[in-house]
Amino acid sequence: MTVPRGWQFFMHPGPTNIPYRVLQAMARPSVDFTGPEFVALRDRSLERMKPILKTKEGFVITYAASGNGAWDASIANLFSPGDKVLVPQTGFFADRWSNTARAYGLEVEALPTTERRPVDPDTVGRILAADTQGRIKAVMLIQNETATGMRHPVAEVRAVMNRLGHPALYLVDTISSLASYDFRMDEWGVDLVIGGSQKGLMLPPGMAFTAINGRAWEAAQTTRNTRRYWDWRPMVENGRQVAFCGTPPIAHFFGLEASLDMIEEEGLENVFARHRRLANATRACVRHWGQGGGLEIYSLDADAASDSLTAVLMPAGHDADRVRTIASERYGVALGRGLTTLQGRVFRIGHMGDLNEPMLLGALGAIELALADAGVPHARGGVDAAMDALRAAAAPRKAAVAA
Ligand SMILES: *Cc1c(COP(=O)(O)O)cnc(C)c1O
Repeated sequence: MTVPRGWQFFMHPGPTNIPYRVLQAMARPSVDFTGPEFVALRDRSLERMKPILKTKEGFVITYAASGNGAWDASIANLFSPGDKVLVPQTGFFADRWSNTARAYGLEVEALPTTERRPVDPDTVGRILAADTQGRIKAVMLIQNETATGMRHPVAEVRAVMNRLGHPALYLVDTISSLASYDFRMDEWGVDLVIGGSQKGLMLPPGMAFTAINGRAWEAAQTTRNTRRYWDWRPMVENGRQVAFCGTPPIAHFFGLEASLDMIEEEGLENVFARHRRLANATRACVRHWGQGGGLEIYSLDADAASDSLTAVLMPAGHDADRVRTIASERYGVALGRGLTTLQGRVFRIGHMGDLNEPMLLGALGAIELALADAGVPHARGGVDAAMDALRAAAAPRKAAVAA
């Protein structure tokens, strides 16, 4: 067993790399979370989350929890046992959110989707149009399905709901798209947004977010699900979070402030452009590998391929986990695995959060070595194709440092 030296490249689609600035901000002694210093930090951090979600109407609250906690909170607060919700089955994460709803006694209409294609808004429309008694209380959509590396049409699904005048709430999970590509809570009419800390926000896991608009807040006042830890009512006063059920994730708030500083300094739209650039380079590389058959980008729809990760589909008879193991053990590059039905068929390259061109090129080069070692047919030179894509995208130069 060789001892690993040099940087180990962590290319998972969550958790993601944590910048030193965030780590350093978090490494500090405990503070009194009821004291004025922490309360001010809490208030301004939650306020600063709003531009990332592009909301003025909604407000943001957090819990000490993984993203799954925000799923629980959404169901516990917004529904009563027996309520029906419509969930397009985009993959593993949609399935898990559906199961959360079932666990709270909800009836889930699990809408099948075409494999390797984004959700078809018209299919959602047909189900809603048939719901003449208004039994469907919510549509729940994953913006970025992390299991497949696909983005789903958030604005278009809302447009269909509006056209039909269907009163369902609209809930969107942005855990692996938040601060990686565009999301517009107000403009797209999203009533409740789910977010997490360990993906585009570059924090450790353990801080989950919910953005709530007036409609969702109203609904939460009359629903009858059992709730305690997740209950919004004691946490919120006048549209802002004033308490937690227990001790808040104090260190995460210091990390969040550093992360928000970094995003603001770069500029949110520049953060998106960087994700797009790195995603395009990754896709150019995978397409090159797969010339003449073999490896494929999982998404068959180029516009639906995610900017935060790329899921790579293996040729039949080849095991994605063998490539992952070699990439990790021989070359120090950690990749995401295929989940449930995609296990062994897919490996996932995370390109979200604190990442730049040389990190990506290094990782893609190592993956190409691992493909060769594993005997997976591919065209050599994927990194060249990635570099061509980066050249074409012409990354903005760093501003000259003022003397
Ligand atoms: C990671 C992820 C989750 C779950 O978050 P945890 O922090 O692992 O509980 C939910 N939804 C999506 C889309 C995710 O990518």
